Amino acid sequence: MSVAEAMISTKFSALTFDQKLDRLAEVAVKIGLGLRAGQELVMSAPIEALPLVRRITEHAYKVGALLVTTFYSDDPSVLSRFQYGPDGSFDYAPVWLQEAIATAFRNGAARLAISGTNPALLAGQDPTKVARANVAISKASKPAMELITRHEINWTIVACATSEWAKLVFPGELEDVAVAKLWEAIFVASRIAVDDPVAEWQQHGARLKQRVDLLNAKRFSALHFKSEDGGTDLTVGLADDHLWAGGGTTAGNGIYCQPNIPTEECFTTPHKDRVDGVVKASKPLSHQGTLIENIAVRFEGGRIVEATATAGEDVLNRLISTDDGARRLGEVALVPHSSPIAQSGVLFWNTLFDENAASHIALGQAYSTCLIGGDKMDAAQLAKLGANSSLIHVDWMIGSGEMNVDGVAADGTHEPLMRRGEWV
Ligand code: ZN
Ligand code: ZN
Repeated sequence: MSVAEAMISTKFSALTFDQKLDRLAEVAVKIGLGLRAGQELVMSAPIEALPLVRRITEHAYKVGALLVTTFYSDDPSVLSRFQYGPDGSFDYAPVWLQEAIATAFRNGAARLAISGTNPALLAGQDPTKVARANVAISKASKPAMELITRHEINWTIVACATSEWAKLVFPGELEDVAVAKLWEAIFVASRIAVDDPVAEWQQHGARLKQRVDLLNAKRFSALHFKSEDGGTDLTVGLADDHLWAGGGTTAGNGIYCQPNIPTEECFTTPHKDRVDGVVKASKPLSHQGTLIENIAVRFEGGRIVEATATAGEDVLNRLISTDDGARRLGEVALVPHSSPIAQSGVLFWNTLFDENAASHIALGQAYSTCLIGGDKMDAAQLAKLGANSSLIHVDWMIGSGEMNVDGVAADGTHEPLMRRGEWV
């Protein structure tokens, strides 16, 4: 029996698949969103997620949702654009739709995203077109995304196993088997394979909060990552007035929500100019369908000055050349090696899961909510404190059972935080 299997309660095993799906839907609505009676819900989902969407919609109306509206995406239709669309298509994005979504959020709607598209969908497509299309949609969705990243509204993301994604995660399995295995992995990672998932999430949230409070009380000026194999020796300066976050948040609209299901991380904002040393990724990074393997990077004064990978190096170089901020860090996160996702040993090819499997850093945009008073600051004020800004935000895993992490105080003294991947 694997560790992940040990995390499945016998009561949960006895449920039918529909009942398990229903539990995920209930946790998404009650814990993930904390949806209020009278609140509108805007959902996005791959078309294959329809059974989960229906369950979520049912739970949303049961708690009194005003209206549930779902936008569906379809992988083969997306692929057609890259195969047959005119060149102008790749600099275009539906601003009109993104404005409408932002308006719904401003008027009080909650947002739920179901993650499940094929991570390798665009792997064979022209990377320049993919990058252009990403820039176009990032720009168009900025007003809506800002309301989300600033936690003005309650929002969450949950996952749905889909066939192409499952075949990527479990290659060599028959499609049905792969999908069933991916669902099981999602249920365990999402902490719903227990007797009482709502109670489990309340406890898990409280534990994360305790850790976050402790880190915030320390006011470290930097973190020092050092792996036992010597591949990583990295000092990550923390932004002035940085705040640690993790688990649930009270959104600007006063509603308590868990923005990611699953979530295992405590994270904060690094100082964009104070990152120095070398770091090696502990897991491959799946980016737009390409696996970037054995990333090794050297930072000087916060900026990447050298980046190599044994596979996907060109994709990595294109990524860090997106804009100036793409070479600098926007997030640093601590995740214990004993997290259920790390223990499952599954590489999900999906950030929602993989970033909760190991301590990680992210290139690009910082979260303004990870700075004291940051949600009310403009770009210039955020930059002054050291918060990075970029069109990208890409997490990559550096933690493992070999990683030691110290907190560094303003006077230079080191305090052990993690030893061999576990909290001290
Ligand atoms: Zn993170
Ligand atoms: Zn991140």
